[in-house]
Amino acid sequence: MMPPALMDRRFVASRRGPGRKGSCVCPISTPCAAIPPNISMPVGSCIWRAIPARPAPWCSGTASATCSSRRRPCRSVPPSWIGCSSCPTPAPPHPSYGGQRIPAWEMIRHSVSIVRGCFGGCSFCAITAHEGKIIQSRSEASILREIAEVRDKTEAFTGVISDLGGPSANMWRLSCRDAALQLVCRRWSCLHPDICPNLQTDHGPLIALYRKARALPGIRKIVISSGLRYDLALRSPAYVRELVSHHVGGYLKIAPEHTEAGPLRLMLKPGMAAYDRFKALFERFSKEAGKEQYLIPYFIAAHPGTRDEDMLALALWLKRNDYRLDQVQTFLPTPMAPASAMYHAEGNPLVPVARGALERVVTAKGLRQRRLHKAFLRWHDPENWPLLREALRHMGRTDLIGPSKRHLIPAGRPAFAKGPRVGEGKPVVPAAPRSREEREVKTFQGHRGKDGGKQARGKEKAGEARPPQTPRSRRPFA
Ligand code: SF4
Repeated sequence: MMPPALMDRRFVASRRGPGRKGSCVCPISTPCAAIPPNISMPVGSCIWRAIPARPAPWCSGTASATCSSRRRPCRSVPPSWIGCSSCPTPAPPHPSYGGQRIPAWEMIRHSVSIVRGCFGGCSFCAITAHEGKIIQSRSEASILREIAEVRDKTEAFTGVISDLGGPSANMWRLSCRDAALQLVCRRWSCLHPDICPNLQTDHGPLIALYRKARALPGIRKIVISSGLRYDLALRSPAYVRELVSHHVGGYLKIAPEHTEAGPLRLMLKPGMAAYDRFKALFERFSKEAGKEQYLIPYFIAAHPGTRDEDMLALALWLKRNDYRLDQVQTFLPTPMAPASAMYHAEGNPLVPVARGALERVVTAKGLRQRRLHKAFLRWHDPENWPLLREALRHMGRTDLIGPSKRHLIPAGRPAFAKGPRVGEGKPVVPAAPRSREEREVKTFQGHRGKDGGKQARGKEKAGEARPPQTPRSRRPFA
């Protein structure tokens, strides 16, 4: 590893702007306790609060003096910020919306946030960078108070809290066992490649919170709609039982994101073995509770490191498990996510980078390949079949084209499919209908009289104004 002093100097160089040697900007109007007093701190945004642990420009270069502002919450939070987690429940949409239905608002108006930050560190997600790797958990009293406020003060509350979560629903009160170690730890994720032995994974306090929240008068049900880290939940079957028995509204969202080891390694996600174990627990506890509930797995198409073969394997897994996804997403590079660096550099920044030894990452960038990856996720959609057939032929997998169940897609177009074929000729676009005025003008100009319009043209040449004409359709009946 690079000596801290050298790393320190490099970051000073990289962060130095014109006339701003060693300066940085901070989102909090008062100086952070971690910053030495001799450093000037203009108000603004300090990226060192958000990105993984590394020596900051003002550090002396020794390990003990590295800035920990991103690793622990700032100790100098202004008094006005204290209790901001329990701010009044969200204000209703602006009146300019005119009372129209806003689905996002409907979703959050009866939800309560209990946690901030995420130590999962999925590479396509910037939450770890924005909110930090160290979890900030709200106090139990504050959460219960807000639930009571939602019950008492929000309109149209039916007794159902639509979410009790955060970036990950089951990270409340979880943290590294050793606070000192946490401050110097340089791992991007506490969960990948395996759950760190230093991570405290006791879900007991969260179970107790759910029970207390359910017991509040006027609360009929509490649904957990935030995403769940199922690999973490597996450490506590009692939590899975509590969740499945009381807090699933028919469907539970989880995000395996892919099935193949190559993309999963670059996403920093657990393998499918954890998914299978969680699914078995979910089905067992649903059956015990006498409920018919389903898992909704989320997948990403075209993530860096995903080959066509990986997407094909994912499509076959979806078909085998009878999943027909409606809404799918294609990877888009977002600011501060490591996967964005992979996408642009076509290399892996999560391993040590050395000159000439960058781990190359295949990246789907062209429109056609990105469409193809998305089409694999929606293998059941007839509109995607021409594209998939072409790709399967190109990949030498014509054995997957055919009519039987063991095939992925049929060889022909089904009789029930309507609309133009995608990729098989241009669809016929009907001409835009013309307005009545246009139609009448056209009709009038087309009618030139017995002389073919010579008389009118002659008059115009002689400077006489053409008399205003009334279109036929508007002439009164004689
Ligand atoms: S030591 Fe382990 S649990 Fe602690 S912060 Fe580092 S990765 Fe997370």
